[in-house]
Amino acid sequence: MNPPLKRVRVVLLTQAIGPLDYRLPDGMNAKPGCVVMVPLGPRKLPGVIWDEDIFGDDPVDAKKLRNVLELVECPPIGKGLRRLVDWVADYYLTQHSAVLRMVLASSAAFTTSGTITEYRRTGLEPARLTPQRAAALDALEGAQGLVRELAAEAGVSDNIIRGLIKAGAFEPVTISVDTPFPEALPDFAAPQLNAAQQTAADAMTSAVREGSFTTFVLDGVTGSGKTETYFEAVAEALRQKKQILVLLPEIALTQPFLKRFEERFGVEPATWHSNMRSTQRRRVWRAIADGSAKVLVGARSALFLPFANPGLIIVDEAHETSFKQEDGVRYHARDVAVMRGRFERFPVVLASATPALESRHMVAIGRYKGLEIPSRFGAAKMPEIKAIDLTVDAPERQHWIAPTLLKALEERLDRGEQSLLFLNRRGYAPLTLCRTCGHRFQCPNCTSWMVEHRLVRRLACHHCGHVMPPPEECPECGEADTLVACGPGVERISDEVNRLLPEARTIVATSDTLWSPEKAAEFVARVESKAVDIIIGTQLVTKGYHFPELTLVGVIDADLGLEGGDLRAAERTFQQIAQAAGRAGRGEKPGEVFIQTRNPNHPVIAALVAGDRDAFYDAETEQRKSAGAPPFGRFAAIIISSEDEREAIEAARAIGAAAPRTDGMYIYGPAPAPLAMLRGRYRQRLLVHAQRSVEMQAIIREWLGGIQFPRSVRVGVDVDPYSFL
Ligand code: ADP
Ligand code: ZN
Repeated sequence: MNPPLKRVRVVLLTQAIGPLDYRLPDGMNAKPGCVVMVPLGPRKLPGVIWDEDIFGDDPVDAKKLRNVLELVECPPIGKGLRRLVDWVADYYLTQHSAVLRMVLASSAAFTTSGTITEYRRTGLEPARLTPQRAAALDALEGAQGLVRELAAEAGVSDNIIRGLIKAGAFEPVTISVDTPFPEALPDFAAPQLNAAQQTAADAMTSAVREGSFTTFVLDGVTGSGKTETYFEAVAEALRQKKQILVLLPEIALTQPFLKRFEERFGVEPATWHSNMRSTQRRRVWRAIADGSAKVLVGARSALFLPFANPGLIIVDEAHETSFKQEDGVRYHARDVAVMRGRFERFPVVLASATPALESRHMVAIGRYKGLEIPSRFGAAKMPEIKAIDLTVDAPERQHWIAPTLLKALEERLDRGEQSLLFLNRRGYAPLTLCRTCGHRFQCPNCTSWMVEHRLVRRLACHHCGHVMPPPEECPECGEADTLVACGPGVERISDEVNRLLPEARTIVATSDTLWSPEKAAEFVARVESKAVDIIIGTQLVTKGYHFPELTLVGVIDADLGLEGGDLRAAERTFQQIAQAAGRAGRGEKPGEVFIQTRNPNHPVIAALVAGDRDAFYDAETEQRKSAGAPPFGRFAAIIISSEDEREAIEAARAIGAAAPRTDGMYIYGPAPAPLAMLRGRYRQRLLVHAQRSVEMQAIIREWLGGIQFPRSVRVGVDVDPYSFL
């Protein structure tokens, strides 16, 4: 009798190929979760052995099975994480392979332990200095990395770098991927919590101790000490020898956070974000997978790493929309974090001063547990918030700062205190047009205007990154010097401040100026050392920062976010302004906030001025309920795109024609998406609106699965969309 066939189902990391069956050769001991290399045609590809029952039966003739080639030496993907991958693929209508690529973090998993060689400059100049070599040397001053990384950074070929290494301009540096991360100490510098903080901390620490799944919404006003409070839960997880993940919404926030963490726990935690060198990536991946790194602070993608022994996830600033991934796998990190806690049985903490309406609703219906810290820590008081009615208290022509706000800025300057002007618009002006013919500068690849960035002297598209120098003459009518900037961005407000208050030292803080952890740290240091009087910034500076000398916040245009008319416009505006206001008066000196608006009676503005958060949330919740909008109903966007407009329209029509009829589910469109062209692709959209009882994803999967599209057409589904563009 033959020994039983050892057949395994493997999910390949290559998209477009479903799971395939392979034979496990004799002597190879592999189980679900193991990373393997398998043959596909002439190629050898990585994959993960998956649980058989997930994909249904599709038996391949045993004689046709090919052998698994090798077992990769790394810890297997655990059962809880495999369930999470199943859930994400199912819920967000994507492939297992796409989710697994995030788990294995590209190639991080496949490197065996040991050392890796990186290169850095020696200071020597090669005898033969071609222009490319010279450019590479310039670009790589102070850099270190693999040949491939250096080449990419300098924008030259690998061969140029190899040539420079041979010529002695670069030297090898040996990096160990096994260097352990230092242990965080739970009791290094524990603060004395106040009563409200202690109550919240106790609830979280006992959940950590029990290893039970609970989702906490840690809801405390800005400056209430949420960070100190959830640090107690982190400390408890450390005592239990469990791993902790802290998700932060922005890379710019990481540096001050790391400093704070070190003050509390004695060491810096490991970090994870998109612009890491591959050696760093491997080191962290390994240390997370073998359990030796206890704390990881990261961007949303850290959520999929194979923690050996996870015991706690904190989602800080959990209301932030940047937790929603908008390309590739379109998932929401806040929701995925909760599911991970559920599958692997540990508590998840959503911390925010302005929780998402969805999170508050979950507390209201008893699914999540609310923890409140109602007042600021110590002597700090919440700032006083006033509206400035721009129709009455109007700035001069081509100015955007109302007299009242200007006066308040002057007072701060006199007293040596700091101010923040908030405007959620990067660049100098959102629109540039020709005074003579009215020509507007539009991106050639997108349905969007080119935004003037005067600091770097160019026009840029904020959707695809297309840039061009500001032209001397209008390309339409040929007249010279007729281009005018319309409306303000932060750079223009900065100009205005410099003109009106020439003695003020200003700084513009946006993703253009704070694009790396180092830049962000520099910014914090400058503000803390009081080398800055007035910060002009986008939403990037409205969260997380703690500047005790900052006593005035001016919101330049509160109406901006309310115009969009998308589902969450009011909520987002409320959150942004509340967070911006939350930067004022965090020290001993009281804070003052001015909100410039043309609609002082708008419910959002009124609630902010009255300091009545609940009134806003209640009214907004009622409105969502009557519209059947989330969290009471659900949406999914189906985006069809092609470089050929007709092809996109035809594909969208085919989808529309095949639309299922289901009670409680409505389908709108197809129609051109609001961003009708993006990165050179024409876009059509259908919007699905369903009651919660409808099995929306299953219906959509079957619906779209039955239609064939040309290869050049892309069809993507965005479940629970945040962007309606
Ligand atoms: P939040 O995250 O809620 O905005 P933070 O955690 O940043 O608030 O706290 C605001 C400030 O108060 C920080 O400087 C923090 O160190 C301080 N703070 C909060 N709670 C305590 C405490 N129990 N003991 C000492 N300092 C505290
Ligand atoms: Zn563009």
